[in-house]
Amino acid sequence: MSNVPDPSAAEQPPAAPSSIDPDGALRLLDVDRAPPGTFGELEPASPPLTDAQGRIRLSFSRIDSYRNCPRKFRYAYVDRLPGVPGPHLSFGTSIHGALEAFYDRKLPSCPTVEELLGFLYDAWDASGFRDLPRSEQLDFYRHAQQVLRRYHQRVAGSYRLPASTEAWFELPIAHEAVVVGSIDRVDLDDDGRFHIIDYKTNRKVQARARVARSLQLAIYALACRNLFGALPASVSLDFVVPGVMITVPIGDIDLDGARQTILDTAAAVRAASFDPTPNRLCDWCDYRDICPAWPSDGSEGLGAAVTQVQDLRRQLTRDVRQLRELEAGVERLTAELADDDAR
Ligand code: SF4
Repeated sequence: MSNVPDPSAAEQPPAAPSSIDPDGALRLLDVDRAPPGTFGELEPASPPLTDAQGRIRLSFSRIDSYRNCPRKFRYAYVDRLPGVPGPHLSFGTSIHGALEAFYDRKLPSCPTVEELLGFLYDAWDASGFRDLPRSEQLDFYRHAQQVLRRYHQRVAGSYRLPASTEAWFELPIAHEAVVVGSIDRVDLDDDGRFHIIDYKTNRKVQARARVARSLQLAIYALACRNLFGALPASVSLDFVVPGVMITVPIGDIDLDGARQTILDTAAAVRAASFDPTPNRLCDWCDYRDICPAWPSDGSEGLGAAVTQVQDLRRQLTRDVRQLRELEAGVERLTAELADDDAR
């Protein structure tokens, strides 16, 4: 998922209803004093947090959001304050849409590269690019075309139809939670074993050990058993931008740990534990302006302290790099002098 057109994308807060001015509404909100859910009408289309059986309704992106910052989770999924789709989310959604069409076919012949680019055209999600100049929007589109051309080159020779694309699941966990989502692709090999593939549009490939710790893949493996009656033999993250797929056998995935994380998150949400956790992603958080960790005058409090720590870290990184360059220069000069002396 990723930055995916899946439950998480569906759960991204859509535009506010036309009768509400979101900016005006946000100005009026005294978010800290109001009980959670007070402003739920701002996003009527968002699935409720509790289902008809009283289970906490989660998805990988909801759990990830909670683990990243419980307060951000509250703003997005309890208060349902609208967020702003960014260019990278829309880029990922578009690539996912094109790849879904690429595999969602009746005939097992591989679509041509032109067809794949046509799927991209059809799937292009412009919502996150609205604030960018046209030239930058075009840069994103051309980049997506390049990524898909390379993808086609990589897979055309081994193309086969998958068992399913965008398989929707609702996975119950111990009557406490239900995790919903969709799996990008499930392949079935000649021995009847399932293989899960999730597309990522990050630039950087994750190390295998990190992929093995992926909560998202563990959830998909449990969902596969729920949907198809068997755990997958392997789970993979396909980093489509650099064109590298990392595959991990199911034995290396911590399924019990994933179940526990889901239960812990559900319990914390049920207990309304939503403290802010300032982190390196605060600068990109849609709710920073209303977050108590970032006082509006910016002159005191936790937010200012975090900014200072980040500035100091950046300065330290620059200093260390400069020190290493100087040390290397001194070593080089010392060696040259020693050579001169020897001659
Ligand atoms: S600004 Fe930071 S601390 Fe505040 S809600 Fe967003 S991520 Fe959490």
